[in-house]
Amino acid sequence: MSLLSAVEMAPRDPILGLNEQFAADTNPAKVNLGVGVYYDDEGKLPLLKCVRAAEQQMMEAPKARGYLPIDGIAAYDKAVQGLVFGADSAVVTGGRVATVQAIGGTGGLKIGADFLKRLSPDAQVLISDPSWENHRALFTNAGFNVGTYPYYDAENKGINFAGMIATLRAAAPGTVVVLHACCHNPTGYDITPEQWAQVIDAVKSQGLVAFLDMAYQGFGNGIAEDGAVIQQFVDAGLDFFVSTSFSKSFSLYGERVGALSVLCASKEEATRVLSQLKIVIRTNYSNPPTHGAQVVATVLNTPELRAMWEEELAGMRVRIKQMRVALVEKLAAAGVDLDLSFITRQQGMFSYSGLTKPQMERLRSEFGVYGVDSGRICVAALNSRNIEYVAASIKKVL
Ligand code: PLP
Repeated sequence: MSLLSAVEMAPRDPILGLNEQFAADTNPAKVNLGVGVYYDDEGKLPLLKCVRAAEQQMMEAPKARGYLPIDGIAAYDKAVQGLVFGADSAVVTGGRVATVQAIGGTGGLKIGADFLKRLSPDAQVLISDPSWENHRALFTNAGFNVGTYPYYDAENKGINFAGMIATLRAAAPGTVVVLHACCHNPTGYDITPEQWAQVIDAVKSQGLVAFLDMAYQGFGNGIAEDGAVIQQFVDAGLDFFVSTSFSKSFSLYGERVGALSVLCASKEEATRVLSQLKIVIRTNYSNPPTHGAQVVATVLNTPELRAMWEEELAGMRVRIKQMRVALVEKLAAAGVDLDLSFITRQQGMFSYSGLTKPQMERLRSEFGVYGVDSGRICVAALNSRNIEYVAASIKKVL
């Protein structure tokens, strides 16, 4: 028997599998609400004007592509710190944050996970129930035992905060808690600043390690508003991890632009932490790619381009909110007699619609409307042309 003959077929990625099914569907009215991607009102993936302008600048002064430093472009890492912690914040100016460029938000999570595994091999990891589907797999593959804390409250269409906080308060010291900083994926429900204060209190009193996943900064209520939770953690005097993704906020999915930041107790500690993060990177892929991070650094560090980005990001955020309101209206107009106001209380790209697996299956097979079996739909893929059809289809499967 050869080495490879015993290799088992791995299961298909559930969401990418949906995409393949969608591509093969011949229904001309089909709508893909499965993937977590923002489309504009024309149904197109946007190429942001600020990105085009930065690329234009880069083309006008072309540079040879040497290797980047292991931790990436310095101006990029600085810009990430500014966005996450505030450029003038004492933790940034005091050198207490170790930031590395990463291959998307996923890369930031993985570098953090590998580093934590070296530091604390027996720690348990807790993710929300439910969570972004890759959290469990990523931390499991990094060698951790992954459990969950309650999050979604299906009955009340909201958050089971009592369950969440009780689990955190009972967690063993050193437990790594993965928290969605804003725009929770998949449910769309975020906890309030008062509830964050309780989470922070539990993290502090139990001696937990907070790992904030910030994949949607700017998609909830604004860049600063969505980042406010970071300040709450800083104010509590905690050390913590933050992964950043620009996939959505810059519509740069394929460029794989992200970061990991670790807030440390001192500048000296941050220097030691950075040296270890660099070993994780060096032994995985040596150093990061140049293009996407250069684009983001150029935009964030050029005042006119940054203003352009903030406006374009606000445009995406506002359009999603409009689609939430419109979906509720269209469902009511289609004759759905249910209180669906929860859809407008959710944040970010997704909505846990409350639809069941059989209903989601019927939406796919009878109407070509593709969402995830959990009932998750991507509101950012709705537009003025497909929303009526989606609402009418949902009405028919209820
Ligand atoms: N974390 C969450 C919660 C996400 O939803 C996603 C992407 O969907 C990521 C991380 C990964 O982002 P990236 O595509 O930049 O790796």
